Amino acid sequence: MSVLITGIGELVTNDPEREGLLGLVEDAAVVVEGSTVAWVGPAAEAPAADTAYDAGGRAVVPGWVDSHSHLVFAGDRAQEFAARMTGEPYSAGGIRTTVAATRAATDEQLTSHVARLVAEMRAQGTTTIEIKSGYGLSVHDEARSLAVARQFTDETTFLGAHVVPADTTPEEYVELVTGPMLEAAAPHARWIDVFCEDGAFDVDQARTILAAGTDNGLRGRLHANQLTYGGGVRLAAELGLVAVDHCTYLTDDDVSALADSGTIATLLPGVEFSTRHPYVDARRLLDAGVRVALASDCNPGSCFTSSLAFCVALAVRDMGMSPAEAVHAATAMGAAALDRDDVGVLAVGKRADLVLLDAPSYLHLAYRPGVPLVAGVWQGGRPVAPGPVA
Ligand SMILES: [Zn+2]
Repeated sequence: MSVLITGIGELVTNDPEREGLLGLVEDAAVVVEGSTVAWVGPAAEAPAADTAYDAGGRAVVPGWVDSHSHLVFAGDRAQEFAARMTGEPYSAGGIRTTVAATRAATDEQLTSHVARLVAEMRAQGTTTIEIKSGYGLSVHDEARSLAVARQFTDETTFLGAHVVPADTTPEEYVELVTGPMLEAAAPHARWIDVFCEDGAFDVDQARTILAAGTDNGLRGRLHANQLTYGGGVRLAAELGLVAVDHCTYLTDDDVSALADSGTIATLLPGVEFSTRHPYVDARRLLDAGVRVALASDCNPGSCFTSSLAFCVALAVRDMGMSPAEAVHAATAMGAAALDRDDVGVLAVGKRADLVLLDAPSYLHLAYRPGVPLVAGVWQGGRPVAPGPVA
């Protein structure tokens, strides 16, 4: 069955074949056939389809591609947030609070919690989500966290190396992560990740863990340079990882390494917002030729937002990105950070993930921060979120 979506005042395609970073088309139409885009162009030239929907002059953008989230957990840390906002600093150790709550939850409780967060994200226009484990930290709890995540996305990431649990030594724990835990997790995961940071895992441990993951068919990604300067970003560049995430504290050498390697710097401004750390100077990265993505890092500790529109607004307001760069970074570059070329772009043959904005232009995403602008969401050609998406 085909659907003609017409009357699109402004269409963001991210199609490199079209002009400008966002490949904008005005007075546009899109034909969706099954789960994919079958035609894109000026509404006046649109072919017929089985049914039609009139966007009424509003803007349509590709669905957000959120390449970094930690949705499998139980409990919350609202009190920790409140304490931090009244003067206590953030440290990686708070993760252990969530680990205790997650281990105590049933599979059903974890699944329904993830379902609720995924629905919350989808209603805000997120149509591709990466989900990490990392609040189990035992063989059983990491494997079941990934099995839960796998019900919602193919982009699952084994993050057993999130923090060393209280009842073991770092050496013993790296042995566990690279041995029995990896073996149990690998069938449910596409990626492996390490929190490379003071208080978590150092560069040598990260290198060992990523190598073990690669040997077991997983692809590497890395949390690095979030709380301090360190060697994590350079390790990611050296290993040619597709993405390294956070990148809050970067030396000039780190920036050069990213530019030379092509490793994507995934910036997570919701974390800076929620921890009062300094925002990353994204302009410095872009001007140096670094590829930049934006993601939510939705998690109960350092950043509990699921809104990529909010992250886009922060990136524009505080990180030196243009509105076009920020929207591109949360769609096409998010897809690139997951090594995907079927999403994040609205062109013939790509997945029909479209978001109808209750606004005439994508500019309103940053111009109207905090305002719910999503009028409808199509995921794989199917209307999935509220709004007049008949
Ligand atoms: Zn994270």
